[in-house]
Amino acid sequence: GSSAPPALDVRGVTVRFAGLTALDGVSLTVAPGSVHALIGPNGAGKSTCFNVLSGLCRPTAGTVRLGDAELTRLAPHRIAALGVARTFQNIVTTEGTVADNLMLGRHALSRAGFTAGALRLPRAVREQRAHLAAAREIAELTGLAPHFDTPVALLSYGDRKRVELARALCLEPRVLLLDEPVAGMNAAERARTAEVVGDVRARLGLSVLLVEHDMGLVMRLADQVTVLDFGRVIAHGTPDEIRRDPEVLRAYLGT
Ligand code: ADP
Ligand code: MG
Repeated sequence: GSSAPPALDVRGVTVRFAGLTALDGVSLTVAPGSVHALIGPNGAGKSTCFNVLSGLCRPTAGTVRLGDAELTRLAPHRIAALGVARTFQNIVTTEGTVADNLMLGRHALSRAGFTAGALRLPRAVREQRAHLAAAREIAELTGLAPHFDTPVALLSYGDRKRVELARALCLEPRVLLLDEPVAGMNAAERARTAEVVGDVRARLGLSVLLVEHDMGLVMRLADQVTVLDFGRVIAHGTPDEIRRDPEVLRAYLGT
């Protein structure tokens, strides 16, 4: 990213499923270029919030804005085109090589149509080359370069999960939504991913909204933390403030 990303502004977002309020008037602002953590117990509404932000779930009430652009009821591909990319909590790819997966991530950016690509028209060929170069750069940035042509099925779990992060980065997002990026990883894989997220934020200048249960990682990476419990924001502040917040301790420890 060349210019600072606009703020991502969530205002009063409510989501009701049959008989259940998954989000209840949630507001938060991801400041430009910051890492903002969204934490809370299982079922608090964190993934639902990501679904709203990425257009997979329509809120009952509330608005989502990226700078001046209203995202609230846009289709997922339009939101992605405006610079919001996400990873999913429980989805890890098993198909193709690392390069294949990163090129898939680039497709949303492609201006030459699929037909032109299939016919190998010169412009499409040029674009394809540029996409490949960009994908290599992202692989470099995420520590996947040594595995660029390796089938993802042969990678360690940590590397495979990092392919998801890399694929999201291939959209050249201004805001990156990471849903539990280190879940299931061992200590070394967690440390490596934390390093990658920190690097990516610094080098690409994007904003990150991070859902994560690993508090060590949240405390290390986040500038701001918002805590959800039963679909409501129960606390907001710096990692140090959150660590000492009695209501947060209650929600987590049940005391
Ligand atoms: P978290 O990611 O914080 O663990 P979720 O956002 O996945 O929480 O879920 C919040 C609540 O909404 C949970 O009670 C969950 O069962 C419910 N929920 C999530 N998605 C749906 C859905 N599509 N239909 C009905 N209930 C859902
Ligand atoms: Mg979740």
